[in-house]
Amino acid sequence: MEHDYWSLERWRFALVLFGGFLGGVLTGFWLVSFIIALIGYIAWLLFKLQQLHNWLEKGGKTSSVPDSDGIWERINFHIRTTQKRSNRRKERMGTLLKRFQGIITNLPYATVVLTKNNEIDWANKLSIDLLKIDIKKDRGQRIENLIRDPKVQKLLSNNKQHEIEISASHDKQLKLALQLIPIEGDLKLFIARDISERVHLQQMRRNFIANASHELRTPLTVIAGYLEMLQIDEDVPKNLIPAVNSASEQSARMQSIIEDLLTLSRLENSELTEDEIEVLSLAEIIHSICDDENALDDNSHPLDLNELDESLKLKGAELEIVSVCSNLIHNAFRYTPVGTEIKIIWKKLISGEGLFSVIDKGQGIAPEHLAHLTERFYRVDKGRSQEAGGTGLGLAIVQHIIQRHGGRLEIKSTVGEGSTFSVYFPAQRVLVTEVT
Ligand code: ADP
Repeated sequence: MEHDYWSLERWRFALVLFGGFLGGVLTGFWLVSFIIALIGYIAWLLFKLQQLHNWLEKGGKTSSVPDSDGIWERINFHIRTTQKRSNRRKERMGTLLKRFQGIITNLPYATVVLTKNNEIDWANKLSIDLLKIDIKKDRGQRIENLIRDPKVQKLLSNNKQHEIEISASHDKQLKLALQLIPIEGDLKLFIARDISERVHLQQMRRNFIANASHELRTPLTVIAGYLEMLQIDEDVPKNLIPAVNSASEQSARMQSIIEDLLTLSRLENSELTEDEIEVLSLAEIIHSICDDENALDDNSHPLDLNELDESLKLKGAELEIVSVCSNLIHNAFRYTPVGTEIKIIWKKLISGEGLFSVIDKGQGIAPEHLAHLTERFYRVDKGRSQEAGGTGLGLAIVQHIIQRHGGRLEIKSTVGEGSTFSVYFPAQRVLVTEVT
């Protein structure tokens, strides 16, 4: 086919040359005749080019294709085919884009696309309700200027993919979970979910536990008091003494559970404030707890306290930090056989973090239990824990306190070899002082 178009073009050119030749024969001016014929041909070519240019400039619509034949018709045809193909692709992309926008627009999450410097580039409908971000007027604004919350500033500057929870500034009842997802280059997705209902339910559960524990505390104190009186009363018949002792033991256990539940509620319901922070000597705290344990347990476990850095101090709430240390050290004494060594470490790591570790050589904990140890009332061996006076709440309390101090708890254990409970405190919580 292509060949035909070109041959028509060649014939046309031959005709031009023949015209020049004929002019030369008739007039005798060969050169002038050929030049005139060639100028005519070039003018015709220019006219065709101009037609094509005008057509393309007007949008190259199929309805107004310039009339042509030969290779010019072929060129028009190629342009139209390419146009059709690109239109089809554009339509396909448009449909895909519409579908994609439809999905994001109707997601049950507020979704904001951020570009360089956290500037808002696009936002879906729900962003208006949850974040008060209206893309029509807020495009190009920096998101931290619209959501003024220190937690959000931190999330944006960290660029990490963790989730934070905040109360919306325009409605304190509205609780939001926020997440930042880096996509590529400077592009990021800022996602907000309404978690008000979940937070409300959690709060109800916390309040219920706190109220129930609080209500039980007074009657239990009275019962425990009467049982104590009965234990020392000589008029109590001998056969009732074991029952009174057992009731007294159980009421003491219930009292510790209630105290632990109240501690957990308090930890959950309040944030750590700067007023509570003191500079603590962890080495001193550890020594004092170990002395108490040794006195209670008759020096049952050899202790290695060689790696306690006396000069390293911790900035924390005293009662809470004492609770973390005593819970972990107490567990090491309770759950390991008499005679096995316990090593305690308090030192600064190269990363700047403070590490507090309690390492025992007991029977260890099977891997399937490790992830659950910090859950409330989770015990590996319920009988053993109760026998040892445990409430099953100790590690849950430890976990909460560590989180409040910005640290993390790591538990490693090998059955038959022992366990290591390590607490990592962030660098800004530790400081090195001179030992006096
Ligand atoms: P409890 O009051 O029962 O001690 P915790 O929350 O302190 O509750 O500990 C949860 C469980 O973890 C314990 O019941 C025990 O089975 C296990 N555990 C804790 N510390 C150790 C340890 N050092 N060695 C072995 N098991 C431990």
